[in-house]
This record gives sequence, C-alpha cells and structure tokens, in this order.
Amino acid sequence: MMAAHATSHLIENLPPIRGRMQADAVLAAATWFRVGGPAEVLARPADADDLAAFLASLPLEVPVTIIGAASNLIIRDGGIAGVVIRLARGFGDVTIEPDGVTAGAAALDAVVAEHAAQAGLGGVEFLSGIPGAVGGAIAMNAGAYGSDVAATLDWAEIISRQGEVFRMSCAELSLSYRHSTLPAESVVVRARFFARPGDPAAIAARMAEIRASREATQPTRARTGGSTFRNPPGARAWELIDAAGCRGLTRGGAQISQKHCNFMLNTGGATAADLEGLGEEVRRRVRAATGITLDWEIKRLGIPGSRPAVLP
Ligand SMILES: Cc1cc2nc3c(=O)[nH]c(=O)nc-3n(C[C@H](O)[C@H](O)[C@H](O)COP(=O)(O)OP(=O)(O)OC[C@H]3O[C@@H](n4cnc5c(N)ncnc54)[C@H](O)[C@@H]3O)c2cc1C
Repeated sequence: MMAAHATSHLIENLPPIRGRMQADAVLAAATWFRVGGPAEVLARPADADDLAAFLASLPLEVPVTIIGAASNLIIRDGGIAGVVIRLARGFGDVTIEPDGVTAGAAALDAVVAEHAAQAGLGGVEFLSGIPGAVGGAIAMNAGAYGSDVAATLDWAEIISRQGEVFRMSCAELSLSYRHSTLPAESVVVRARFFARPGDPAAIAARMAEIRASREATQPTRARTGGSTFRNPPGARAWELIDAAGCRGLTRGGAQISQKHCNFMLNTGGATAADLEGLGEEVRRRVRAATGITLDWEIKRLGIPGSRPAVLP
C-alpha cells in the first residue's frame, strides 16, 4: 500500500537543513516497541546551529515533534503529521570536567554514566540503567535507584520552536516525578550534570549492581517502553495491575509482561493500537478493582488508525 504521507508536499516547502530530511520516513524501527506509522517529514539536523536556523525559518503552523531513543513512546499506527526531529551524531558528544559531565542530547544515558565512571566520577550511576538519551531523560526527569535527573542536573541548553538558543537551570525546569516544564515543541540539545570524584571500584560496582537488578526484575531485552503507568500517590502501579488480574493479559500481539506487570511487550506482531488498547483495558480493570485511575507514563504520539488521512 502506498503511504498516504507520500501525497504530502510538506517537505517541498520546508527551509533547508545541512543534515538529513526525509518524507514519509519509517519510525517504527527506531522505537523500542517497533510499532507505529511514518513521520510526514523526519528531520535530522547536523548540529545545534543547523537546528536553530531550521526552526527559526519553519512556519509556526507546522507541528514539531521531538523523539529521542524512543524508549518511552508509542508512535501510533497513523504516523506523525508535520516535522519529527530526531537528533543524531552531531548531538552525541560527552565532555568530562573535574566536577561534572556535559553531554549532547543524543548521547545515550548509559554512555554518559560510562564516561563518568571511566573518569572516576560518581553521582550519575543511575543513568547506566536507563535506555534513553539525555534529551528524553531531561524531558521525563528520568530516575532510578534512588536518584533522578532533578538531583544531578546543572543546566540544559534548549532551542525554542522559534529557533532561539537558551539555557534553563535545573530549578527553572521544575523537575518532578517523570515531569518537566520544558516549553512545548522546544528541543534539548545539550546538558550538564554534576558529578564528583569517587572511588572508581565503588562506582563500577554500583553500576554493575544496577544492571544486575534490572536484568532480574525487568524485561530489558524485549520490545517494551519501560513503565507504562506512573505510580499513583502511595501505591505502586505494578501491584495494582497485578491485583486486578492483568499480569500476562494480551491484546493482539501486545502483552502485559509476566516479569514486571507495569511493562507492556510487543511479542511480535503488535500494532500501536494493540498496545494502547491493552493499556486502556488495564486502566479500566484497575479502576474497577480499586477505584484508582492509572495515568500513562508512556507518551503516545501521532494519529490513531492504520494510515493517516491524506494531508493537505
Ligand atoms: C527497559 C526499559 C527500562 C526503563 N527504565 C526506566 C527507569 O528506570 N527510569 C526512568 O525514568 N525511565 C525508564 N524507562 C523509560 C525511558 O527510558 C526514559 O523515560 C527515558 O528518559 C526516555 O528517553 P528517550 O530518549 O528514549 O525519550 P523518548 O522516549 O524518545 O521521548 C520521551 C519524551 O521526551 C521527549 N524528548 C525526547 N528527546 C527530547 C529532546 N532532545 N528535547 C525535548 N524533548 C525530548 C519526547 O518528545 C517525549 O515526550 C525505561 C524504558 C525501558 C524500555
């Protein structure tokens, strides 16, 4: 079937970039769940100057969506209208400083933790177990094992939808549980984390402990999106899901993990609709069993359905 996005002429009317731009671009392969329709246009700017110039000239009516390592996303089957920005190589540098580490937003969290550890810097070990990239970590205030971005971030460099480059301090981002006040459609391009000299053996041991604990409790090698729902105040989402009888529940190719029932899996042929529908069924069953309404932690982006309507 021919992609409906192929009939879109958006790409012909966009400002140029030095990086790469592609119409009707497959996104599913770049996501942890391996589901979802195409981007009307996928833009991969060469560096921050390229991105800033592109956004400054991009008509404001064109919607912009940012994706990172797509480890906390369901991209819907109809794809994403407008421009999807994915940061690539020009945003992957990691620089070690005596009391911190500065990283491009496309650097994987685990790579940042690894660089810091090799330099004998501690404080960012928690990043070693999070499969996303730095930009997503800030947008989501990623955290694990007793720490989070809020506890370690110095500042983030951001490009606004209008193409202005500015910094926000950790306090200005008002980071809270899996939440930040990053302005809409703005892109994190770089960030600095505080780190401190420590015993290299102890830092390495802490990272090994985090990896082992994850392997034991989470389906880390599966097609998943991490925690599906936020923990409600005073409760744990996985316990509510388990108590509502949803462990192992399936819909199409989507399944609630047997290993950790706040994780959903694509067992092979799942669509985004299977995954989102399964999540909604879990919310319904948990509400019926406990009176508690679970809130999605996974971001769902794009247009429902098999293919998008023809775009103007
Ligand atoms: C096996 C597994 C385990 C996980 N464990 C944890 C965990 O322990 N703790 C935890 O917090 N999370 C966990 N996650 C979820 C996920 O890894 C984190 O939320 C991560 O920070 C998301 O980063 P990402 O680059 O994949 O972002 P994406 O999933 O691509 O995007 C998430 C959100 O961030 C926005 N975003 C991404 N990049 C940028 C950018 N450069 N600028 C502006 N906005 C941006 C997107 O628009 C979207 O709203 C886990 C996921 C998996 C698959």
